[in-house]
This record gives sequence, C-alpha cells and structure tokens, in this order.
Amino acid sequence: MIDFLNLKKLNARYETELKDACARVIDSGWYIAGNELDSFEKEFAQWCGTKHCIGVANGLDALILTIRAWKLLGKLQEGDEIIVPANTYIATVLAISENGLKPIFVEPDAYTYNLTLTGIENALTAKTKAIIAVHLYGRICPMDEIMAFAKEKDLLVLEDSAQAHGASINNKRAGSWGHASGFSFYPGKNLGALGDAGAVTTDDEELAEVLRALRNYGSHKKYENLYIGVNSRLDEIQAAMLRVKLNHLDVDTAIRRCIAGKYINRISNSFIQLPLNEIEECSVWHLFVIKTKFRAQLSEFLNHAGIQTLIHYPIPPHKQQAYVEYNKLSFPVTESIHQEVLSIPMDPTMTDAQVEYVIQKINEFQA
Ligand SMILES: *Cc1c(COP(=O)(O)O)cnc(C)c1O
Repeated sequence: MIDFLNLKKLNARYETELKDACARVIDSGWYIAGNELDSFEKEFAQWCGTKHCIGVANGLDALILTIRAWKLLGKLQEGDEIIVPANTYIATVLAISENGLKPIFVEPDAYTYNLTLTGIENALTAKTKAIIAVHLYGRICPMDEIMAFAKEKDLLVLEDSAQAHGASINNKRAGSWGHASGFSFYPGKNLGALGDAGAVTTDDEELAEVLRALRNYGSHKKYENLYIGVNSRLDEIQAAMLRVKLNHLDVDTAIRRCIAGKYINRISNSFIQLPLNEIEECSVWHLFVIKTKFRAQLSEFLNHAGIQTLIHYPIPPHKQQAYVEYNKLSFPVTESIHQEVLSIPMDPTMTDAQVEYVIQKINEFQA
C-alpha cells in the first residue's frame, strides 16, 4: 500500500534527534513556557521573516485569538464582516463565528483554489473589516495584490497559513504578508508537531503583547489579568519537537516540489485536471490535488491498485449542518471543487519507484 502520508516513517527519519530533544525537556524539569518555546518562537519568526511568533495550542486557536485580540484592541467588533474563501477548511470559518463576526464567503479561483482580488472586490461592503487569506493546499494567495487592496480600503488581513509553511512570493514567505498569520503544526501539516500546536506570526508588537496574555488566561504578569483569556499554550515537549523538525523543513519542501514536478510533467490523462505550477516558490504542496468528474471511480481504481487517496474536502462550510443558516447559499465553483477534487499521495518519504507507480496507475485509468 502506498500511504497518503506515513507519519511514522516521516518522523522516524529524525528519531535520534527527536528522542534527544524529548529527553532534554524531561530532564529539565520545566514543561510549560520555558526555553524551548522561547527558542522555537524566535527561530520560527526568523524563518518566516516576522518580528514576533506567539506559540498557541493549535491552529484554530491561532486564528480565534488573533481575531479576539483585534476586538480587544478596538480594530474589530461583533457583527463586522470578514471575507473568507468559500472552499476553505471549516476551522477558518469557526474562528470568525466564534468571535461573533460574520463570514462573507467568496468563490475561489477554479484553478488556484484561492481567493482572487476580483472576488474580494465584489464581496466588499461598508461592513467589511477584514480578509482571511487562506493559502489552501500549500499555495500562497496573491498577497501582493491583496495587501495593496487592503491598504487602500483600510482592511485587516489575517493569513491562514496552516497548509503553507514556506510558500512565498518574491522570496517573502507566507505568514509575513498579512497583519497577522495563523499557523497549525498539527502532525500532518508540512511542519508537524507530535501532537497539537499552533502559532501566530506578526510584526505588530501591540498585537503580539495581547496574544501573549490571551493564551495564558489573559495574564500579562503572574496572577494579574488584563483580559478574559484562555489556556492555549504550546508546551515545551512540542516546542522541542518543532525545533528539530524546523531544521529539516526546507529539505522536505524541496522533496515535495520534486514529487509535484514529476506528477505534473508525467501524469497525462484526459479525465484529470492537474494543479497549476507556474512559479515554484508559490507552493509547498501540502496536498497534491487533482480534479476529475470521475472521482469515485478513480479513487476506487487507485485503492484497488494499493494507492491511498483522500478528499479535501467533501463538504464546504456553507453546506455543513453546523452552519444551517448558510445552507441555502449557492457557490457553484466551490461546490464543483468539493465534488471533484481528489488528493493523491504527497509524502516526503515516498521512493522514486512509488512516485512512478502512482503516475503509471493514474495514466492507466479509464473512465
Ligand atoms: C489544519 C488547519 C487549521 C486548523 O489547525 P489545527 O491545528 O488543526 O487547529 C486551520 N486552517 C486550515 C486551512 C487548516 O488546514
């Protein structure tokens, strides 16, 4: 079986380093908010090209707490509208509704799967206060255009970089374009912890201060609370694991790009639409997503050939039971994406032979 992503093999490559780092934390006797977190925050901020990184418990909290911090700073208020791509993963939308703001769903581009400037312009109202640019599947949004537009209209931009660690435009990485960015280090993400973890990156000192308090009960000083905060901390063990894996991330990204390049050059099947790949730095290939009207047959065929596939995602947020108030909305591009996309194996531990086999089998498929 060719796994979609084999986490055991992935982490086994760093077994000694991870176990040493784990032992270092165990022996230190300090498990929350210590040197590992401090160091990881500095290292990740530097890697992204931002002044600050604030570690939190997961990617959803990174998004929720950033919006909450903007409310506390008087930059957003309940009822404000936030533009979000209709085809995003549900977490992006949860972060908006959790804060009592209103998601305004916008159709993505049918080929990049990301927000476009035109889509944003058409959705703009007097109540629009922010945009969440989701770098879906590892591909960065047109952030140069989005930031110029946001500046002109005085909008906040939050990047959802959960799938796009290191994707860049003109060498400027995801997480350093917006006023803030949420990252997830869920184990299957390109930079994955060995449990839950997340972070916010920003150049805004004031926002960073509020986030540091919010993640720790709203406390800026021990036993003194400025805000009604939460417990959302990135613990020392996970910070130590992330420090090890951050050192190897650029190599893994290069491997992902190599696999994606082979898929794009060699998969040739008239029933299948491949993802775009015009500029290498744009995508870190969190997922390799193909589109076909014959998805059920293709996934069945590949499964039969021992190749695991997944669907990202089968149901868009506005069609979820949780968001029944939006169920009547219609987004044809989004809905066709959800009906036709299929993610094929994208795992930095795949062998050349496995990549060849996936290509061969997909090329053999007949609808
Ligand atoms: C994974 C993910 C999140 C949430 O991250 P968690 O760490 O699982 O909370 C948010 N947005 C997107 C686009 C994601 O892929």
